[in-house]
Amino acid sequence: MASTLVVNVLDLLRRAGAEKRVDVVAAARQFDFADSRIDDNADVEVAIELESSSTGIVAHGAARVGWTSVCRRCLRPVAGTVAAEIDEVFSREVPKHRRESDESVVAADAEPLIGDQIDFTLPVREAVLLAVPDAPLCRDDCPGLCPHCGADRATTTCSCVTFVRDERWAALDALRGTLDDAVE
Ligand SMILES: [Zn+2]
Ligand SMILES: [Zn+2]
Repeated sequence: MASTLVVNVLDLLRRAGAEKRVDVVAAARQFDFADSRIDDNADVEVAIELESSSTGIVAHGAARVGWTSVCRRCLRPVAGTVAAEIDEVFSREVPKHRRESDESVVAADAEPLIGDQIDFTLPVREAVLLAVPDAPLCRDDCPGLCPHCGADRATTTCSCVTFVRDERWAALDALRGTLDDAVE
């Protein structure tokens, strides 16, 4: 079965200003994310608007997919949905020169348009992997785990004492540190 993310753009290339919309729901495994945060069976909803210009095709849209991870403070499971932005320019020709002042610098970053098809698999894959959070929180004010005993401070109170440092003792502590070092 042909990938539905491969879009035929022949009709767009024939007329500058022509538009096309791509609406595809594809299984995550199709993108080969190889990322524990995205389930292979998850649906990736891809919606992209294509518009042709004299130099190529501009693609703008988003890919939505659910993810699961763990809170970076308390290690509780966290889940969410990202809407990864897709912004790609596909150029009929790859410019040989890149000039800083030139408007076509944007086009210089364009993907070459080979044939009359665009495969959105890779652009979607890259955008999604960038959009899924690396270190999420279960909630903004998650108190996390106690650094001493590992108790979950959102549900329990442990008996560990949080040491509040008194500046008057700081100099003595420093001196004691030097003495300890000398003994070793
Ligand atoms: Zn948390
Ligand atoms: Zn504790």
